[in-house]
Amino acid sequence: MNSNRRNFIKTSALMAASMAIPSTSIMAKKKEKHITRIKSTVPMKLSWTPYDLQLKHVFTISGFSRKTTPVVLTQIEYDGLVGYGEASLPPYLGETQASVIEFLKKVDLSSFSDPTHLDEILHYVDRIAENNTAAKAAIDIALHDLVGKMIGAPWHQIWGLDKNKVPDTTFTIGIDTDEVVREKTREVLGDFNILKIKVGGEHDKRMIEAIRSVTDLPMAVDANQGWKDKHQALDMIHWLKEKGIVMIEQPMPKYDFDSIAWLTERSPLPIFADESLQRLRDIEKMKGVFSGINIKLMKCTGMREAWKMRNLAEALGIKVMIGCMTETSCAISAASQLSAGLDFADLDGALLIANDCFDGATLEDGKIIAKDLPGIGVLPTQDIKFGR
Ligand code: MG
Repeated sequence: MNSNRRNFIKTSALMAASMAIPSTSIMAKKKEKHITRIKSTVPMKLSWTPYDLQLKHVFTISGFSRKTTPVVLTQIEYDGLVGYGEASLPPYLGETQASVIEFLKKVDLSSFSDPTHLDEILHYVDRIAENNTAAKAAIDIALHDLVGKMIGAPWHQIWGLDKNKVPDTTFTIGIDTDEVVREKTREVLGDFNILKIKVGGEHDKRMIEAIRSVTDLPMAVDANQGWKDKHQALDMIHWLKEKGIVMIEQPMPKYDFDSIAWLTERSPLPIFADESLQRLRDIEKMKGVFSGINIKLMKCTGMREAWKMRNLAEALGIKVMIGCMTETSCAISAASQLSAGLDFADLDGALLIANDCFDGATLEDGKIIAKDLPGIGVLPTQDIKFGR
């Protein structure tokens, strides 16, 4: 044995000895407890319940109006801990409470002995069936909540983010009459630092003027694919810039990449993709077409993939916003965990509903800030009856 090797062994032994000193300390007890927890022989138990969100206002975007949003709430129990999740199901996206429940019935978590193996478990869930992204998100969110509770930390902390350094959330004003949009804008003045206006109707300019008559706040504009001609769209964007609009979301039909790339190249405002992308695998196609992407947990199967998308987009020089559907504070709190440092946040989903059944991330000075609780940071505000 050469001297280097001997020295290495000696040093290692010393290090091991020094690390063994606090073996009766709290650290060691924590470690033992942790090991005991992971060795639980009782499998994870997934259960769910359908729930209907009542919207405070009728909500209109380009082509659709509605007063309710169906969701499915999920719960994963393991070793005395409970993780909560949610699938939000706006009708135009194709998933329903029935399709989510049908998917959840196929999920068998009994072969996974350790919930912290997120990659393995969520890879299995993703392969059960194509699509079903909201159903998958309902499992992903509950699992993240559970694992965060096992570790004893919120996900923004696990990911190394400062939860206070989040962008202002936009508050969405749907397409409506001048009088209604003015009224809706007045209602929220003082609570938000940026608004998001849904356009793509016949009277876009009039609606923007109506809002401008009551506030100078910066505004994002979401056309939801509503503009069909790229030249008209560019004229409109120049007009919007003069009116204090700061970004444009999904101006044109989702597969019309050529027109959108043409527009992005000439636009004085950043152009974000929403309907044009779903998941991680779509991001590369966005480069050179859009300036940024809107990541939503319900489109991309949940927090794990959203985190990967965020990192890939940043590496490719693509801007990132985090968005939502109308959701309870459960899914909104999950999204709030990864919003620090992004370009825009659109996390007003729980503020638009009248029957939120979770207490979670809250609106503070125009920002949606996660609670100081482990996992996704939520507590149910009523006795939710989960079953199978
Ligand atoms: Mg959108």
